[in-house]
Amino acid sequence: MKFTEATASSPAKFKRVGVVGGGQLASMMGDAARALGIELVVQTPDAADPAVSVAAGAVLAAVDDVLATAHLADGCDVITFENEFVDLDGLRILEQQGVLFRPSLSSLSPLLDKYVQRCYLQGLGLPTPKFWAWDCSQDLHLDFPFVVKVRRHGYDGQGTFIVKDRESFESICDRVKGQSLLVEEFVPFDRELAVIAARSATGEMAIYPIVETQQQNQVCRVVIAPADISLEVQTEACAIARTLLNSLEAVGVFGIELFLTADNKLLVNEIAPRTHNSGHFTINACKTSQFEQHLRAVCQLPLGNCDLKCSSAVMVNLLGYESAESDYLAKRKQLAQISGAFVHWYGKKVSRPGRKLGHVTVLFDAGLGENEGKSASAIAQTIESIWYAT
Ligand code: ADP
Repeated sequence: MKFTEATASSPAKFKRVGVVGGGQLASMMGDAARALGIELVVQTPDAADPAVSVAAGAVLAAVDDVLATAHLADGCDVITFENEFVDLDGLRILEQQGVLFRPSLSSLSPLLDKYVQRCYLQGLGLPTPKFWAWDCSQDLHLDFPFVVKVRRHGYDGQGTFIVKDRESFESICDRVKGQSLLVEEFVPFDRELAVIAARSATGEMAIYPIVETQQQNQVCRVVIAPADISLEVQTEACAIARTLLNSLEAVGVFGIELFLTADNKLLVNEIAPRTHNSGHFTINACKTSQFEQHLRAVCQLPLGNCDLKCSSAVMVNLLGYESAESDYLAKRKQLAQISGAFVHWYGKKVSRPGRKLGHVTVLFDAGLGENEGKSASAIAQTIESIWYAT
């Protein structure tokens, strides 16, 4: 297919985009919006949230506050999401009144509950881990380890529990009692992969190079682009993305997390109906960032080119490791000294353990000879040893 090179010259059909959510994902959409001549208005609870300072306006309210979304929609051509923890039934009333959501609410509805999402994938004939709905009241006859997940509002591993033995099972039950849950088989995967894919309102599709993601305690630490996988696996991952986005009639960027097993089988773990952490490398490493791509899809501009501008890249999340109010300027300066490094800081005022505060992307082979011979893992280790040093 032919791509349009990302330039500021293409006139966007929609000029003012409302974004439900105002965290780092909305904030990183800010630069792309400026380049495309689009204004962003965000709906987010706190004036200190990362996207407020880059947006043309903000409605300060919770993301599931439907009246606030109605207010947001008043001044915007289209509403999109950086956060899926919304009140879908409430938003349907706005959609009936003519508010344009991209992706549409019918694209979101099979995805917001992890059990419903799994059933949807199964219905499409896509491979997933074996799963069951559960609510702590029924007996479970599963061998350890297995996985328990809260069906809604889980993120960054909050709400995902690997159950290793009876003792951990009991303490997890105490934590999740009363919630609707998903139980699934533990997949002893070889690697985790992610596909970032975009679909336009006319069904045009653009897929970024498949990446490897590395998690610790269920939280993403490192993303390597492109993943070192066979052509067959790449082709299958792209086919999964196409089936899914076409079936959902998706508009915008979606993130698809996959498990790759030792015998080269792919299983779909999760779909995020928005830009995704595993796509942050695209800002510096690709011809079109995932944030620009999302706005292009939502505003009816032709999709941009997903190709890498370098031979490979590694992205490392800067996760909070203490409760503090610091801007970690000295560490950020040190990270910026790494050859080929781009340091992104989300401007959050408060750090907490596990909170995503920023990320670093390092490009290889973009005329930056100092990284020659170094592996992505070695660079990731260097970044983490600087960042987590106390
Ligand atoms: P969240 O929505 O909070 O990101 P995920 O379902 O994506 O939660 O799980 C987070 C991480 O937990 C995954 O990236 C993976 O490392 C691990 N995980 C989740 N489900 C399984 C599973 N069935 N088997 C093995 N590991 C899993």
